[in-house]
Amino acid sequence: MPRQNYGLRIFHNQPKKVSTQHHPENSSGGIVIDALIAIVLSVALIILANHFEVWKHIKGNENVVSSEQILEEQEICKFGYDVSGYFFTDLELKADQFLGDLLYYEGISFDKIAKLEEKSKDIYSVRKLKAGKYLTFVRPDSCSTPCSFVYQPDPYGYVVYSLEDSLDVKYVEKEVVAHVETASGTVTSSLWNAMIDNGLQPAVIDMMEDALSSAVDFYHAQKGDRFKLVFERNYIDGEAIGVGKLLGAYYENDYGQHYAVRYKSDNYEGYFDLEGRATKRAFLRAPVKFSRISSRYNRNRLHPIKGRRIPHLGTDYAAPYGTPIHAVANGVVEIAGYGKGNGKYVKLRHNKTYQTQYLHMQRFAKGIRKGTRVGQGQVIGYVGSTGLATGPHVCFRFWKNGRQIDHLRENFPPAKPIKKDELEDYFIKRDEMKYMLDVINFESDQDKLAHDPDNLSS
Ligand SMILES: [Zn+2]
Repeated sequence: MPRQNYGLRIFHNQPKKVSTQHHPENSSGGIVIDALIAIVLSVALIILANHFEVWKHIKGNENVVSSEQILEEQEICKFGYDVSGYFFTDLELKADQFLGDLLYYEGISFDKIAKLEEKSKDIYSVRKLKAGKYLTFVRPDSCSTPCSFVYQPDPYGYVVYSLEDSLDVKYVEKEVVAHVETASGTVTSSLWNAMIDNGLQPAVIDMMEDALSSAVDFYHAQKGDRFKLVFERNYIDGEAIGVGKLLGAYYENDYGQHYAVRYKSDNYEGYFDLEGRATKRAFLRAPVKFSRISSRYNRNRLHPIKGRRIPHLGTDYAAPYGTPIHAVANGVVEIAGYGKGNGKYVKLRHNKTYQTQYLHMQRFAKGIRKGTRVGQGQVIGYVGSTGLATGPHVCFRFWKNGRQIDHLRENFPPAKPIKKDELEDYFIKRDEMKYMLDVINFESDQDKLAHDPDNLSS
């Protein structure tokens, strides 16, 4: 593992005044802001102009939404219900309780409860509700029978069990808002563990290693190597839930300076250097971040459930329920289906040679069905234990020319560079990102103090 060789230390991490929204529905406000920027640009210094270009680019594609706005929206609407017209009561689920009893107590007939149980099976079965979590009952007035109850299995969404005559059950994905943030750091000798304690930061480092994987040899990172990053952090209900896309990365070592710029167009989606050459491996190392390999590809494995020797033609990555599963390369969904052993699974075709498969999913990501095009790193589903599985994990399988292989032993061809006719477009994006990276500072205040004892007095 490369991790033992070095530690990466992040010095600062400042949220930028820019936020983007993942589901842009209304972009009418953008025109006014663009016009304002144009006026500002005409009078600003050249340096400033450059800065605004960057800002404009980031907000240009998607909506700008402030956290205050989102909070306001939440206050008006809760689980899709207008808060001024409904009453909400939370009830903690306790072990050994029967949902049927709870609902009966709320005035729901046993007949309805039985039908609801049946109806919930395909969406989110009421049998999966867990002690320690909450049910929120929704009522049209404070003492009436509830018209629905809501359960939140994970931070990404909630299930609405409607108790109206139609007995509707639906899973609602929450809106994810991405803020652009920056970070920089220096490779030190022993700080990897400190970073793990830091929660989200290792995810960013992981993405940097992926983005620069063909340009930088991270297995031989040296003390004193330095890096800078521009990335998105995702928020749900105003709370950080994890990092999103890495937008740009810079890495400096004895061999020079390396840039990776995320570029997406009709023809490309990936990371490229300043000349437009791919800086990322054609295939990601793993479909889940921070997972633990719980079982490697093994032609002679004792099966944990069946108890017989059955070859394990995949690699198992153990991760908590609901962890996003990423496509390891660009491709097309061949199957998004269900199998008795596989559970919910997705199979992707990447090109004539390679296919990959992801088993035991809790659920598919939005829009994932046969024929869907996916980009490298795109979320295609969430970790679960459907089918024949002892706990939450992804069984990841890799086919080469129709034969299953151990992807951890495969040498993949490098990704393709951007073609000449698209380079001009790429260079515009590149310049913006390079500017953003270049203005990030390396030294933290602490570091300055260490280097310059005179500063101690100030
Ligand atoms: Zn497996």
